[in-house]
Amino acid sequence: MTTEGRNFALDFLVMATRKHHHHHHRHRNTFWQEFRFEITVTLLLVTGVALLVEQFEIRRTVWGWIQTGVRFLNRFFRNFFQDFFNFLLSLRLSNTIGVILILIAFFMIFNRFRKKMIVRYSVLYSCPQCGSELARIHRTFYHKVLGLFFWANIRHYKCKKCDYKGIKMDWKQS
Ligand SMILES: [Zn+2]
Repeated sequence: MTTEGRNFALDFLVMATRKHHHHHHRHRNTFWQEFRFEITVTLLLVTGVALLVEQFEIRRTVWGWIQTGVRFLNRFFRNFFQDFFNFLLSLRLSNTIGVILILIAFFMIFNRFRKKMIVRYSVLYSCPQCGSELARIHRTFYHKVLGLFFWANIRHYKCKKCDYKGIKMDWKQS
């Protein structure tokens, strides 16, 4: 039997037994009216505790993220340096010798080119266009770089009669 049904039956009983049935106190306080205070306080408590616990959870989660991030970075850098060190260790002797041989070959090619260049530009006594006398002028930035690259002395000349300009290369004396 439901509450409504029981109430109805009780009311019916009351009505049947009472004379002044229209004044009977049928409308009893509902559960909400009766326990409004308790319900409110309980709801406040539950909500408050839930919020506190949730906040705690959030805080713990954020802290967990930070910890995870720090751990990740730490591991990343440790692994990076470990990998780099292992790479250096894993370089075999044959690799090193190979690199050295290639460097020697490049140096030999460059040195041959350098010698040829210096010999080619080492002879300049008079203007190749008109045979006139030459005058030494200031070197440009390009000539300085060239001198460093070929490890040679470079002199810049200009013809006294025509518009010829040229360089003279020499072995570095040092
Ligand atoms: Zn000239």
